[in-house]
Amino acid sequence: MIYSNSIQRKKQIKIKTSYKIALQNAIFLTQACLRKPLFAARLASEFTRVRVLRHKRLRFIDIAIGYACNMRCVHCSSSNFIRNDEPQLSIDEYRRIALMLCREGCLVFHFTGGEPLIREDLEEIISVFYPERSAISIQSNGLASTRERLLSLRKSGVDIFNVSIDSGIPEEHNSFRKTEDAFSKALQALDDAISLGYSVSVSTCICHSNLYSKGLYEIIRLTAERRIWCSFNLAVPTGNWRGNDKDILTPEDQVFWRQLLEEYPHCRIDMNNNWSRIGCGAVKEKIYLTAYGDIMPCPFIHVSLGNLRKESVSLIRERGLKIPEFSDYWPKCLAAEENTFMKKIFCCNRESEISPIHYTQVEWMRNHITDNDKNDIEGNT
Ligand code: SF4
Repeated sequence: MIYSNSIQRKKQIKIKTSYKIALQNAIFLTQACLRKPLFAARLASEFTRVRVLRHKRLRFIDIAIGYACNMRCVHCSSSNFIRNDEPQLSIDEYRRIALMLCREGCLVFHFTGGEPLIREDLEEIISVFYPERSAISIQSNGLASTRERLLSLRKSGVDIFNVSIDSGIPEEHNSFRKTEDAFSKALQALDDAISLGYSVSVSTCICHSNLYSKGLYEIIRLTAERRIWCSFNLAVPTGNWRGNDKDILTPEDQVFWRQLLEEYPHCRIDMNNNWSRIGCGAVKEKIYLTAYGDIMPCPFIHVSLGNLRKESVSLIRERGLKIPEFSDYWPKCLAAEENTFMKKIFCCNRESEISPIHYTQVEWMRNHITDNDKNDIEGNT
């Protein structure tokens, strides 16, 4: 069924969109501040550095702690990242990386995978990321979640629990995830996390074929009812969706999802989270760390700007910021909506079975970076 007509939509979903929910969104991190005074102090200090002193500080990092998973999702990109010739980052390496990231300004550590909950040492990994002075967030499919594990993670300093749901219709979600009880387990994980005091959100991938569907509106409804966030991820032609152009959002779709954000204040997208401006925060404010130490601009741009086993995070960000798309706040999602950028990136990625490819393999990126290096050298002589 198509739910594109606004009046019909409002009849179908009696969502209580109120200022209460909008306010709840705005104070999402306040819960972490109240629990962690040292985090509140860092937040205030970073805010001043960015907004008053105009420093380009890192705010957020996705940390993929491995690519093993207990589901087989249709749109997954994890398998491309698995390497048999290299060990994953160790606890000692994470300890060193965490210090670098904090010095770079990072306030939010978001653990993802694969499925992070199947790692028994997740609490140990979290412990080296300064949980008493950072906001810790987890992305999960909910299948391995139990109340006991959520309690243990809460005690280890986790503030935010995100569950991925692809459709609010149980059969659709289960079939997309190729897992029988995926939907009921996801809902149970959500409700457990809410009752344990986490800040909770549902992440959902929106694409051309689900944007006007009942499945999406059921997700909007179930998140509104629980007074939690609904975070949109836009469909990107990577991973198992490599070359899948039919699910990419059209210009009309791009207008439509923005209207949804207006209409339902509990719905959001990562472009709204920036320190400075609404837009793509890749490299300027957020980066993605693979399980092998590579830094990518974001989870959906599978290009390595450098590796933390060999280089510092500030050097890698400095390199990335030489690329115009990453030095400014692009108003559209580069990976999902910006056609010229997508063509330039995905035509290189299409030839490679392994993610990420190194930036030197992407000619236009390499040229930007080396041209800027030359200018820096000439400027200094
Ligand atoms: S490319 Fe898209 S998903 Fe990635 S950081 Fe930018 S807006 Fe977010």
